[in-house]
Amino acid sequence: MDLTYTEEEDKFRAEARAWLAANVPVEPLPSGDTRDGFAAHLEWERRLFDARWSVVSWPREYGGRDASLWEWLIFEEEYYRAGAPQRVTQNGIFLLAPTVFEFGTQEQQDRILPKMASGEETWCQGWSEPDAGSDLAGISSRAARDEAAGGWRLRGQKTWTTRGAFCTHLFGLFRSDPEAERHRGLSYFLVPLDAPGVTVRGFGRLDGDEGFADVFFDDVFVPDHDVLGDLHEGWRVAMATTGSERGLTLRSPGRFMAAADRLVGLYRERGAAADPALRDDVVQAWMDAEAYQLQTLDVVTRLSDGARPGAESSLTKLFWSELDVRLHETALRLLGPGAELADEPWTKGYQFALSGPIYAGTNEIQRNVVAERVLGLPRK
Ligand SMILES: Cc1cc2nc3c(=O)[nH]c(=O)nc-3n(C[C@H](O)[C@H](O)[C@H](O)COP(=O)(O)OP(=O)(O)OC[C@H]3O[C@@H](n4cnc5c(N)ncnc54)[C@H](O)[C@@H]3O)c2cc1C
Repeated sequence: MDLTYTEEEDKFRAEARAWLAANVPVEPLPSGDTRDGFAAHLEWERRLFDARWSVVSWPREYGGRDASLWEWLIFEEEYYRAGAPQRVTQNGIFLLAPTVFEFGTQEQQDRILPKMASGEETWCQGWSEPDAGSDLAGISSRAARDEAAGGWRLRGQKTWTTRGAFCTHLFGLFRSDPEAERHRGLSYFLVPLDAPGVTVRGFGRLDGDEGFADVFFDDVFVPDHDVLGDLHEGWRVAMATTGSERGLTLRSPGRFMAAADRLVGLYRERGAAADPALRDDVVQAWMDAEAYQLQTLDVVTRLSDGARPGAESSLTKLFWSELDVRLHETALRLLGPGAELADEPWTKGYQFALSGPIYAGTNEIQRNVVAERVLGLPRK
């Protein structure tokens, strides 16, 4: 692995850094998991798009810069380093888009990607149901064939849909062949949330923000051209989405490197006065973030050589989610008693870090995947 950046890459970094320095809002935006905050974040997304920074690794015709994966990583590092706003478009651009590039028809790519890049259409993930979370293949929402209309009728309920109350579209899994084996009868649908028969009901998270929604489908018509990938092959398509979610795009190392740097800053401010023994934890958090970056460089090297993200992405997910919890716990211990109740970024960050071992597939499930599919251990 060659860890030196090329002249081109250094130039790319300098350009990103300069643009972010001039454009990142000085005052932090309100939480993107509230209605007003989401709108404010979308304005920011449009500014990113206008300057071609919203989807740097995409082709130019869709609003990107044709940047390499290396440059994408550089941009992410600079983005978090600059303290730029959270990406409320993430479930579209980091989860759905790689899947559309891989499985979508040309017509779907041309229709969906430019509006996703500009933030005109925003996407949420409709997988979990009240009785199916970890056991995703156990979903019961149905898609029934409507031959006359040339499409499908969706019925059922999705839940825990992040920012579902604010997004315009949903990508979701539905059972299209009830007779088939559980993993074989699913299809991957793309659904506008203003379609007749859709009801979206937002609900609050533990921190009070309306970050989640229940989405109900009552005979919702979806035309054939809004099935992503082959019919009844939704499981295979969805596994490509989870590969991105767990392995690379959702949580790039820049996020944790920036948090670790802030933690070092906090220690310098408060550490000696707090518990000097916390120094080891601060150093460990910083080293873990660096280790995650190096591991990501290895993943990107392999992807650039044509490999596809596989079951190893579960190892990556375990690492970043547990690192995030430890890092924030150390920050709260540095801040001292009362920090858990304080209204400050570390506290909010800690609350969100606690959900990392749950979303994108719980860590227990990731350990099962690692045991069976990476280590080849028997199921029982
Ligand atoms: C912040 C956040 C955002 C989310 N956003 C979305 C979203 O946008 N779209 C969406 O569809 N979903 C979303 N989810 C839901 C998430 O995918 C589920 O919560 C997760 O898959 C777990 O499902 P569950 O909550 O039904 O728990 P369960 O599946 O009921 O699991 C309960 C417990 O049992 C354990 N368990 C279950 N099965 C096994 C097993 N076989 N072996 C060992 N342990 C097991 C689990 O690890 C867990 O600890 C989000 C969740 C969170 C916290």
